[in-house]
Amino acid sequence: MTSVLITGASRGLGLEWARQYAEAGWRVFASCRRPEEANDLKALAVRQPRLSVHRLDVTDSEQLRTLQLDLEEARIDVLLNNAGVYLDKFMGDLGGIDYEVWLRTFAVNTLGAVRVSEAFIEQVARSEKKRVVTVSSHMGSIAEIADPGSYAYRSSKAALNAAMKGLSHAFAQRGIGLLLLHPGWVKTRMGGPDATLTPEQSVHGMRTLVENFKPEMNGRFFRHDGSEIPW
Ligand code: NDP
Repeated sequence: MTSVLITGASRGLGLEWARQYAEAGWRVFASCRRPEEANDLKALAVRQPRLSVHRLDVTDSEQLRTLQLDLEEARIDVLLNNAGVYLDKFMGDLGGIDYEVWLRTFAVNTLGAVRVSEAFIEQVARSEKKRVVTVSSHMGSIAEIADPGSYAYRSSKAALNAAMKGLSHAFAQRGIGLLLLHPGWVKTRMGGPDATLTPEQSVHGMRTLVENFKPEMNGRFFRHDGSEIPW
């Protein structure tokens, strides 16, 4: 059975990835920081017996080790690095930068995704599809920076892109394909109510890209609609 491991599946895009893959009949390993509070995800698990809920804070190496052991024998066709934070969205500009927040942002958005990818490379390598999909943001595109602000979020996603591009070369040696995706501006807690896309629309577009992955797409950065984003 085709399987996917998702990080940050408690709400927003992660929950929608879980819902759509479960409806498509996939085995879904849905991970989240606090399963006890992830009521929407737990309700989905009741309706979808092939979906299991796992505890994973992507910054916590002990939790990662535990999940690695739980999934030691598993095959993971698609590893989906979705978890992310945008902690400096409403933060002050020059004079108001919080460097602790910046480090926390890096710990989740950059190191978290790399850590999870490194931890599950064997499970992905032994699967049929062999794909690592990382949800980045067009805000990590240096070419597109036209305003001040969001220094922590932007740089965490730019660094994520650089790290993932490097990993794509290592993964290619194991037959694994890697995609970086921008979901569009989506109505989630992070995207806010004025966003232009629903999670259904965004994830539907991104899933189509994951399904239609071709070797020449390896290590490249695409919007949910398939258009490419400059670094
Ligand atoms: P939400 O804020 O709605 O959801 C973020 C998810 O990440 C939550 O499930 C949250 O869990 C989880 N998370 C946060 N920190 C951690 C952690 N340390 N370990 C594990 N999980 C964690 O955001 P979206 O669904 O909108 O965002 C999903 C991804 O899409 C992110 O990577 C984001 O940067 C990216 N993105 C979103 C855009 C948008 O318009 N919405 C635009 C561009 C990119 P918890 O419930 O425990 O807090």
